[in-house]
Amino acid sequence: MTCGKEPLEREQVIARYLARSLDAEAVEEFEGHYLGCDECFDELYLSDRIVADLRTSNLTWRRTEGVSVLKFRMNAELTQSAKELEQLRREVLEQSDSRVIIDLSRVTRIDSAGLGQLMGCYSHLVRNAGAMKIVNARPEIRRLLDMTGISMLLPNYADEQTAVRSFDDIAPEAAGDIPRA
Ligand SMILES: [Zn+2]
Repeated sequence: MTCGKEPLEREQVIARYLARSLDAEAVEEFEGHYLGCDECFDELYLSDRIVADLRTSNLTWRRTEGVSVLKFRMNAELTQSAKELEQLRREVLEQSDSRVIIDLSRVTRIDSAGLGQLMGCYSHLVRNAGAMKIVNARPEIRRLLDMTGISMLLPNYADEQTAVRSFDDIAPEAAGDIPRA
């Protein structure tokens, strides 16, 4: 059987299935599908193992005023080999809010892989008519975001309240537009 799902769609359905955030109808549809679909079956098996790893994740998730806030529990590096990179990617893809705040207070170092991951998360959310904001970045991280021009797309807010309120500036119909450089 040919799958018919785009890779991004498949990844999201599976992530939501595992996070039990699909509605009953979608669960029934997916369960009727994946047993006969090699691509979905393999991806589900892999994702299930990754989700098990994430139960011990350094990344915490909480929801406030319709916005998801992701924060690292302990000091973290967003670098090539860090497990936090994959945790961040999974977490952003998994939750159904397209408005996400990432608290970088515990992030001590970011390399090009980490910047790439932040931009990947940002693009994913913007494609889904949402937005992403950064709060509490340390001075050295802020300098890096400024130097690379990433702060034009991902401004750092000094506190969570201001960041939460900044989502109100996004007109719903304009929220899907990627800002031009
Ligand atoms: Zn499939």
